[in-house]
Amino acid sequence: MATKGISMGQPAVRLSGWNSEHGHVRERLRLAVCGTCGGTGQEEVQPEGALAATPPLEPTPEYLEWLAAESQRLERAEPAEILRWAVEQYAPRFTMATAFGPEGMVLIHMLSELAPETPIFNLDTGYQFPETLAMVERVWERYGIRVELKRPELSVEQYEAANGGPVYKTDPDRCCFDRKIRVLRQAVRGMYAWASAIRRDQSPDRARAPIVGWDRKFQLVKVSPLANWTKKDVWAMITRHNIPYNPLHDQGYASIGCWPCTRPILFGEDERAGRWSGTGKIECGLHSLDDPQSNQYTGRGPATGAGL
Ligand code: SF4
Repeated sequence: MATKGISMGQPAVRLSGWNSEHGHVRERLRLAVCGTCGGTGQEEVQPEGALAATPPLEPTPEYLEWLAAESQRLERAEPAEILRWAVEQYAPRFTMATAFGPEGMVLIHMLSELAPETPIFNLDTGYQFPETLAMVERVWERYGIRVELKRPELSVEQYEAANGGPVYKTDPDRCCFDRKIRVLRQAVRGMYAWASAIRRDQSPDRARAPIVGWDRKFQLVKVSPLANWTKKDVWAMITRHNIPYNPLHDQGYASIGCWPCTRPILFGEDERAGRWSGTGKIECGLHSLDDPQSNQYTGRGPATGAGL
């Protein structure tokens, strides 16, 4: 069976599993925590990410070996070359998540030249700054690309009413899980690969990101074209090409997430010091270490896996 987006010459991918030749749908049950009352129960686990695609892309040992070799080969490649590789391999099942950070804007600029039809989305938690949301129109005006806002099921009002107030104050890990991780999981369902704008020099977890690798948390290939770039590289490109960026960066906000969990940084502080400041939390869970269990919020600490 031919698989669109999978190039010739790479190892065969086992295209079976969730819908086997016997017609069964594999079912699993896992412990789930209700996003409203905190009670626990069991929920059926549906295939995720590339496993839900038709045909599915499965991380067989041969495929992972091939991915690792490609990642190694792409270590010295320019970001645009890495993006081109990803488009050739996985489009139209290749997507990108952006929080409109400087790195994300650089990738959007590159995609506008390489593959403007690539679906790009933003996780709209309901807590983003107006300046961030305004980037949707700025991207449209500059590139003719419509970034899709992906939202949680419950509005902020419904979510806070159901939980007795803002969850970001009492349990930010759970808030990120409900309003980002669940939404991303849905957004990449049926995709083979997603691009993220992380840089290795941003955090210890990000330092271990391959250029391309299997994202066990969301069950698809994750591509990080800017892994080897520095903050200086990113801003040099923004200046060179007059790429639009979030105006909050000019007000001391180095890394921008939701308004309740973001502050400007002080001179000499780390660029991510303004995120969840004073809580000990450093990631929303989308890019931290590759723990597949973190797709299941347990309330026992960080729901750990964007520039988001
Ligand atoms: S960053 Fe803050 S407000 Fe946004 S989802 Fe996470 S905890 Fe909630």
